[in-house]
Amino acid sequence: MRTPLTALWAVGLSLCFALQPLMTIKAQSANDLPDSDEFFQRASRTAPERDYTRQIDDLLKRMTLEEKVGQMTQLTLGMIVTGNDQNIKVDPAKLDKAIVKYGVGSILNVADQALTVDKWHEIIGQIQEAATKKTRLGIPMIYGIDSIHGATYVQGSTMFPQEIGMAATFNPELMKRASEITALETRAAGIPWSFSPVLDLGRNPLWPRFWETFGEDPYLAKVMGVAFVRGLEGTDVAAQTQVASSLKHYMGYSFPLTGRDRTPAWIPENYLREYFLPTFDAAVKAGARTIMINSAEINGVPGHVNHHILTDILRTELGFKGFVVSDWEDIKKLVTMWRIAATEKEATRMAIMAGIDMSMVPLDYSFADHLIALVKEGAVPQSRIDEAVRRILRVKYELGLFDKPMPDASLKAKFGLPEYRQVSLEAARESVTLLKNSNNILPLAKTAKVLVTGPTADSLVSMNNGWTYVWQGSEEGLYPTDRHTIRKAIEAKVGAGNVTFVQGTKITRGPGPSNATPTDQEQEVDIAAAVSAAQNVDVIVLALGEGSYCETPGNITDLTISAPQLKLAEALKATGKPIVLVLVEGRPRIINRIADSANAILMAYNPSHEGGTAIADVLFGDVNPSGRLPFTYPRTPNGIISYDHKPFETENTSFGNMAFNPQFRFGEGLSYTTFEYSNLRLGKQTISTNEELPVSVTVKNTGNRAGKDAVLVYVSDLVASLSPPGRRLRRFAKISLQPGESRTLNFKLRREDLSFIGADNKPVAEPGEFDVKVGSLSQRFTLK
Ligand code: BGC
Repeated sequence: MRTPLTALWAVGLSLCFALQPLMTIKAQSANDLPDSDEFFQRASRTAPERDYTRQIDDLLKRMTLEEKVGQMTQLTLGMIVTGNDQNIKVDPAKLDKAIVKYGVGSILNVADQALTVDKWHEIIGQIQEAATKKTRLGIPMIYGIDSIHGATYVQGSTMFPQEIGMAATFNPELMKRASEITALETRAAGIPWSFSPVLDLGRNPLWPRFWETFGEDPYLAKVMGVAFVRGLEGTDVAAQTQVASSLKHYMGYSFPLTGRDRTPAWIPENYLREYFLPTFDAAVKAGARTIMINSAEINGVPGHVNHHILTDILRTELGFKGFVVSDWEDIKKLVTMWRIAATEKEATRMAIMAGIDMSMVPLDYSFADHLIALVKEGAVPQSRIDEAVRRILRVKYELGLFDKPMPDASLKAKFGLPEYRQVSLEAARESVTLLKNSNNILPLAKTAKVLVTGPTADSLVSMNNGWTYVWQGSEEGLYPTDRHTIRKAIEAKVGAGNVTFVQGTKITRGPGPSNATPTDQEQEVDIAAAVSAAQNVDVIVLALGEGSYCETPGNITDLTISAPQLKLAEALKATGKPIVLVLVEGRPRIINRIADSANAILMAYNPSHEGGTAIADVLFGDVNPSGRLPFTYPRTPNGIISYDHKPFETENTSFGNMAFNPQFRFGEGLSYTTFEYSNLRLGKQTISTNEELPVSVTVKNTGNRAGKDAVLVYVSDLVASLSPPGRRLRRFAKISLQPGESRTLNFKLRREDLSFIGADNKPVAEPGEFDVKVGSLSQRFTLK
């Protein structure tokens, strides 16, 4: 008989074989199952760098100022094509202007929507042909695209759960596999650069890009972020199956005071370093090639002119060697939005001197004209230009673009393989998070008669959210027709005859507040029909949540789930039939009015194309859920507070502050089996700052089903010179146990796990007492 852990790894192993030669890490044996730290240390390692100094020096010597500034310029695809949708064509005159006249070094984006691999080959081929053959020095183009949950702008690519769902898996190995496939499918289209991962922390659920993040915890996001980078870049980024990553949006972008996209944040430097820097720090040290900048401002300083963040911290402290790209039109916005400069020329000077190497202009040639003039006037030194161009050329060399600028036709055979879908399905299954299961109503019997209703029940758009085929993810007509929505997956599971589907309410796109970009509008469709259909079924699967949105069009004024959805839920409650609430949403919409009346609650996040199948697998017990919430689910719109809040904010204080009373907690996630933790042991009772602290805990599956469990290890600093958070996640490990099986996990804590950023903005581990907590177990030790 196979031992259970070998069974877990057998799944991994079969995926490894499926992905060969993609996989770089061999399957583990049962005894060396990596915890988050082992994974992180291993994934942070890079291959020795190749030295391109000679080639770069040689090129730089031959380049004119105009050619150098061209390399620092990035335009959007729309600037060189005509036509719409799939009928776009490179316009030779526009291409010549961009490449031959301006020597533009980079192009990004799609014109309207995702293109086929063949169309990408045609377009990138023409661009590279012009760049390498029609320019004096033949420097290849670096094309960039937002492959944030798969190669989202390449038709037929494999889509994965959005980052918020990947975080819920607590499985960085899966994250790495997903991004390896993303890299391959992006490169197969001829595109060597992805604007991912998003390393902003999701600590404000109002923020419309919340779902693009790995949630609220810096440690989890750091481990997942490094996994994403390693998957994209591999150990050799020059391999034709890898792409350069772009860490974004450096930094503090995700924590605006108002929750609205691209609005100001006030974050003191110690908290910037404590919460928002660690993800970027880790990914830079893991070798990430490029970084994209925060479009908004912190403490009154727009991200794009923040010399301290862009140069002092990024270059001097972190040692970042790649190049810095601006976000969309952000040099112009220094004038139009932030009013930090009176003219675009002055804004250009400020941004370049702060540390921007490449400007995502992206809609005209003004940047190049201004920068050339600034250098000629002596307002920007030639040395700063050389530095930026050197960094850009280095990434182009590292990607192998000088040797092989053209899309590689042989990669087409490796694009969109069925086994990649299996990885996406696995990720969706491991992300689904069971938050409530009264009287073990789940799993449902496959003989049950089911009413499936709600606006997200039959929608791949909700399942995917933004950056899917189009920026807003909203074009239903572009989605594949052979993927299961929740409705179709349930029909496949129990037979269409046992399923009644009633829409209930609908989410459509309507004019946004400024009429500029359409946003979600919600309306009732047939609530009465849903109520009457409920009479004839055993259980109601009510799928609520959100449509698709991205960036500013996703701003909301109320975190509460929409009024039509509340009405539908309350009408169904009155029927007395059991309700299984499935949430398909990119941020935690407030559900306190309906949470109590739901017998079970399943959080699906944005699980992508395989999400319907994964949800049905969990609902009917073919998969035992193992996701854990990567954020705190607020109970009330004003109850936004993270798990690592200060102790006086808990519900137990004598002052009765009661600030912390969430609907669901960070790390929450039920299973169909039960896990018992015991024997939490520390290797020492007292340690000095340079010593490691061994921690072990035994986990037993005490139920009667096999299951996976993410074991979370927290550390609390009891007294500190800055009021300490109640606890902080410091390690995790996802394991699989058969009924009755137990396993002892061993972790090691180091000095950095006990430290925080002090008032002087430097890390400090202060002597005193600490608690290590796993589940309800706790052990104390002293740091000398
Ligand atoms: C977004 C970035 C994205 C860029 C290019 C911007 O609006 O903020 O995340 O990478 O567009 O598409």
